[in-house]
Amino acid sequence: MEKINKRRVGIMGGTFDPIHYGHLRAADDAHTAFDLSEVLFVPTGQPPHKAGKNITSAEDRYIMTILATVDCPYFNVSRIEIDRTGQSYTIDTIKSLRNMPEYADAELYFITGLDAVMDIVSWKTPEEIMSLCKFVAVSRHGYTHKRMEELPEKLRSAIIPLEIPLLAISSTELRDRVRRNWSIRFLVPPSVENYIIKKSLYRDKDN
Ligand code: ATP
Ligand code: MG
Repeated sequence: MEKINKRRVGIMGGTFDPIHYGHLRAADDAHTAFDLSEVLFVPTGQPPHKAGKNITSAEDRYIMTILATVDCPYFNVSRIEIDRTGQSYTIDTIKSLRNMPEYADAELYFITGLDAVMDIVSWKTPEEIMSLCKFVAVSRHGYTHKRMEELPEKLRSAIIPLEIPLLAISSTELRDRVRRNWSIRFLVPPSVENYIIKKSLYRDKDN
C-alpha cells in the first residue's frame, strides 16, 4: 500500500511581548529539522502563566508577530487564542486546530524553549497534549537538555530535543531595555523595533 506522507506543521506559541530573533531562529530551525510545511505562530490571549501581570494588548502583540514573520513564506500567524475569551490553554488550542480542515490531518509539532518545557508539568493535561502532537524542545540560554531528565518519564519520552544557536534574548529583557532607553536594534526585526517606537510600548514603569 502506498505510504501517505502527512503534512507536518509547527506550532510556535508565545506571549510575543515582543517577538524577537530567539523565537524566529527556533521556528526556522524546527522548520528545517522536521521538514515542516509551515510554522504557525500563535500569540496568547490571556496567558495563564502570566495572569495578573500587565502585558501589552493582544492586538499590538499580534501585529508585531505579523510584522516579524510576513517576509517568510512558511511562517503564518493565527488569531485563535487572541479571539478566544478567557484563559488560553495549549490543549484547547491544539484541539481547535485539529478541528480546522487545513490542520485536521496534519502532524503537529509544538515548538517550545527548554525553559517552557521544564514547566510543562504545570500545564493543563500535559499527557493529553503529548498524545495530540509531537513536542520539540529547543535550546535556551541558562538550560541544558540534560535538565529534561528531571521530567516524569512519560512526558520526557514524548519530547524531541533540538539544538539551536543560543541567542540570549528574552522579551523581559527587551521590555527592560526599552524602559531604560537602550536600543533593541539587532535583537528584533527592524519592523518590530519601529512599531515599538511608534506606539511607545514598554515605556511605563509597571509594563
Ligand atoms: P518573557 O521573558 O516575557 O517570558 P520570552 O522571551 O520567554 O518572553 P515567550 O513569548 O515567553 O518569550 O516565549 C515563547 C516561546 O519561545 C517559549 O517556548 C520560549 O521558551 C521560547 N523562546 C523564547 N525566547 C527564546 C530564545 N531566545 N531561544 C529559544 N527559545 C526561546
Ligand atoms: Mg517566556
